[in-house]
Amino acid sequence: VLKYSPFVVSFRKHYPWVQLSGHAGNFQAGEDGRILKRFCQCEQRSLEELMRDPLRPFVPAYYGMVQQDGQAFNQMEDLLADFEGPSIMDCKMGSRTYLEEELVKARERPRPRKDMYEKMVAVDPGAPTPEEHAQGAVTKPRYMQWRETVTSTSTLGFRIEGVKKADGTCNTNFKKTQAMEQVTKVLEDFVDKDRGILGKYVARLEELREALESSPFFKTHEVRALVPWVYVGGIGIQVVGSSLLFVHDHTGLAKVWMIDFGKTVALPDHQTLSHRLPWAEGNREDGYLWGLDNMICLLQGLARS
Ligand code: ATP
Ligand code: MG
Ligand code: MG
Repeated sequence: VLKYSPFVVSFRKHYPWVQLSGHAGNFQAGEDGRILKRFCQCEQRSLEELMRDPLRPFVPAYYGMVQQDGQAFNQMEDLLADFEGPSIMDCKMGSRTYLEEELVKARERPRPRKDMYEKMVAVDPGAPTPEEHAQGAVTKPRYMQWRETVTSTSTLGFRIEGVKKADGTCNTNFKKTQAMEQVTKVLEDFVDKDRGILGKYVARLEELREALESSPFFKTHEVRALVPWVYVGGIGIQVVGSSLLFVHDHTGLAKVWMIDFGKTVALPDHQTLSHRLPWAEGNREDGYLWGLDNMICLLQGLARS
C-alpha cells in the first residue's frame, strides 16, 4: 500500500493533452513532454531529415521510433507542453490533401460507394448528380475531388480542421467552411481579436515562409526557370496532408509548427515544384506556399482591423 509522503513528488508535469484531428487512437502519451504517434515510415524519414534542416525550429523535435505494447510509434516533442491552458488550431495546408497516387489507385476499381455518398449528402444534399442519387452511391475518386471543393482547400490553399479554445469550446466541423469571410471569422474568433497574438502568429509565419524558401528539405536543387513567376527555387518535395498547428495561451505565448508528415514525399529526380502554382493532375503541385501566403494575408488583415 502506497502512503502519501511529502517526499514523493511527481516529476511529470500533468496537463490535459488534446488531439484536434486525425484518427482517435493514433496517439499516446510518451515520456515527459513527448508524445507517441502511430509509426509511419514516411513520417519518420521526413522528421529525421527535418532535424538537420533550417525548418527544424518549425517542426516537433523527433526522438526516434519506440515500441510500446507490441506497437511501433514515432516519438516526438509535445508542442503543448510549454503552454498554460492553450488554445489550439489545426489548419491543413495546400490545395490538395490526397496524393496523386491515391487518386490513381482509387480510379483503378471505381466501385460505387454508399458510405461516401452518405458523407456527401450529409454535407450537401445537392452535390450528387441525378445518376448518383439514383444509385445512392458515388465512386471514391469523385468523392475525393468533391471534398476539396467544399472547404477552402481549393479556394485558399488551406482549410481549418479543428479549433479548441482555452475556454473549452471546440469545433471540428468545418466541412462547409469555404468562403474567405467564414474562414476569417473563425480565425478572428480563435484569437479573440487579440492583436498581440495575431502579430506573433504573423511574425512566426513569415519566419516559417523564409525557412521554407531556404530549406534544402523543401528545395533540393536550384533551378533557374525561364518564366520568372514559376521560379521559387526547384523544390523537391511534395507536402500533402500536412498541417500548421497554432497554439497560444493567456500568458501571450503564441507559436506555430508544421505537423503531420505522413504523406510528405520526395519527388523523382529533377522534378521541381513551385508550391504556389495551381494543381493539375500530373504536375504534383501541392499549393503549400500559396496557402501560407493566403493565411499570412488574412491574419495581417485581422491584425490591422
Ligand atoms: P490526419 O492524417 O487525419 O490529419 P494524423 O493521424 O496524421 O491525422 P496529425 O495530423 O499528425 O494526426 O495530428 C492530429 C492532431 O494531434 C493535431 O491536430 C494536434 O491536435 C495533435 N498533435 C499532433 N502532433 C502533435 C504534437 N507534436 N504536439 C502536440 N499536439 C500534436
Ligand atoms: Mg493531420
Ligand atoms: Mg496524417
